[in-house]
Amino acid sequence: MIEVNLNNLWKELPPDVKLVAVSKYYPVEAIERAYKAGQRVFAESRPQDFAVKVEQLPKDIEWHFIGHLQTNKLKLVLPYASLVQSVDSRHLLDAIEKWGKDNDKVIQVLLEIHIGAEQTKQGFAEEEALDILFNADKFPHVRFRGLMAMATNTDDESIVDADFARIDSFMAYLVDLFPELEGFDQLSIGMSGDYKIALRHGATMVRIGSAIFAEQ
Ligand SMILES: *Cc1c(COP(=O)(O)O)cnc(C)c1O
Repeated sequence: MIEVNLNNLWKELPPDVKLVAVSKYYPVEAIERAYKAGQRVFAESRPQDFAVKVEQLPKDIEWHFIGHLQTNKLKLVLPYASLVQSVDSRHLLDAIEKWGKDNDKVIQVLLEIHIGAEQTKQGFAEEEALDILFNADKFPHVRFRGLMAMATNTDDESIVDADFARIDSFMAYLVDLFPELEGFDQLSIGMSGDYKIALRHGATMVRIGSAIFAEQ
């Protein structure tokens, strides 16, 4: 049995910060319990699981995709995702634009920025994101809504704090530089272990899994 803890988070998060419940490790029954408690925004990270859960769960859920997305899996995700948070390569962005064109749909995305210390982390360097946004008009079927990032995986809060401070100021810089990018206003930072730090650095969405769903 998986217990669902939402009340404390709802109390703790400012009203303008969206709680994205990361349900990737949890079964449909646990998501249903969170839904019944009132949660409406969920995120998955594997295309196959995403498609299956979307199919089985209520239609008014707002689904986000937060995992690595291979271009041959777009059709499992793009018809249902309100937001693809994890656009991490130019190749993927080009494929999303093409899918949107072919399916007459505009896909809302966040650009995932590499901020953590780990080389293995996905995401764009800041210069790459800048280059994409300078050329945003080449992607008429993509709506750029902001940035997503994961901090360095460490217990050292000062490192996490520095990571989030950096992405916060990069976001502010972009908002300033691209006033014509309507709706470019979302900063998705903060997970179960570091969302309190993210809230101090302009998070508009937090992505929380293990602090909500607990194995009993
Ligand atoms: C799994 C995951 C989360 C949630 O992590 P928790 O530590 O369980 O809160 C958030 N963001 C991404 C991109 C993830 O893959």
